[in-house]
Amino acid sequence: MRPLNNEDVEVPKSILNRQLNLLSYEGLQNYLMNSHISPAIIMRINEFGESDLLVTFFTSDRGRLKGVAKGGRKSQKRFANCLDLFCLTSLEYELKRKGDLHFLHSCKLINGFPGLRSDFSSLSMASYMIELSEILFPLGVVDKKMFELLEHSFYALNHGARNDALRIFFEAKAMSLGGYRIDLNKCCICGRDYAGEGRAVFRPSKGSICCLKCGEESATSPGLSPESIEMLGLMQSGQWGTVEELSFSNEMIQDIKPVLKLHMEYRIGRRLKTAEYLE
Ligand SMILES: [Zn+2]
Repeated sequence: MRPLNNEDVEVPKSILNRQLNLLSYEGLQNYLMNSHISPAIIMRINEFGESDLLVTFFTSDRGRLKGVAKGGRKSQKRFANCLDLFCLTSLEYELKRKGDLHFLHSCKLINGFPGLRSDFSSLSMASYMIELSEILFPLGVVDKKMFELLEHSFYALNHGARNDALRIFFEAKAMSLGGYRIDLNKCCICGRDYAGEGRAVFRPSKGSICCLKCGEESATSPGLSPESIEMLGLMQSGQWGTVEELSFSNEMIQDIKPVLKLHMEYRIGRRLKTAEYLE
């Protein structure tokens, strides 16, 4: 016989009631109708009550959600190794109306991304990606592409991708998915089409570039080479799913980094809290 452990002793009342409820046909039907499984990335975990956890998670099909894992601080059976920051899991939860807390039933680990917690720079980068995702995608706003971006970026970070390239890739794509794409097609002052030749200047207030006849390069309006503008355009377009598909030069990264920094600060209205841990 299996030895008695904590979990056997401390079954929360809400779970007990739920299990009893399943004995009726209506109870079982209700459970099956409201129970849902999504691939989910664990974004935040907080202690909740004596033995529960409050979990924020990003799903591919229902966006960012919040839920309670009853007995999550002790249960090794239902949430084995899954309720950890940045883990990709297959999460089973009960559907609730918008804005309500979801009840987490169980989860299975798909990828724990151990590399994200192994050193300070990876941990900071992953936290930064989570913060930007939270800002751009409020609770319940669904974007499958944003989920895929976060998932691919965590895979890349876990496999030791170049941090500076991954950062601008994530920023450009996330901002674009969030509705803040930089307009690279024409000068925002004279309206002339940008033909892909010569440097241009980024104007944060316009979210666009302008030609060198209409503006000068400065710290608040950084310049971009034609190669950097092309790369920024590629990152913003939907066709490149992973950072490995593009080849970045140091010059491109140096050009694009300050542009995205100014663009994000202008559109979001502040610097991200986690940004100070990067560099
Ligand atoms: Zn112009």
